[in-house]
Amino acid sequence: MTAAPITPARASNRALPDWATQLQRIYAGGRDRCIGKVRYTSEQAARGNGQGFLRKTEAPVSRLWPYACTHCRGWHLTKREGATPAVTALSPREGVPL
Ligand SMILES: [Zn+2]
Repeated sequence: MTAAPITPARASNRALPDWATQLQRIYAGGRDRCIGKVRYTSEQAARGNGQGFLRKTEAPVSRLWPYACTHCRGWHLTKREGATPAVTALSPREGVPL
């Protein structure tokens, strides 16, 4: 006896409804925390880009701290004071000589 052929489910090309997108985000777990954040591949990249941001006259803060993200394994910048030297408009590592 031969088994009936298995018909693969057709992939839908339609966009998911909003509720499905929201469910996906919920089940994505921690990665959801990175949505909307700029992700950098290294601390150096985060500091360089942060300094560029702070050099803009309209920047709303004067210091940023890079941190390694455990959710996406990239780097982000935060306004919260961190353990490493801050990024300022003048230096990618405040207080650390070049
Ligand atoms: Zn992240």
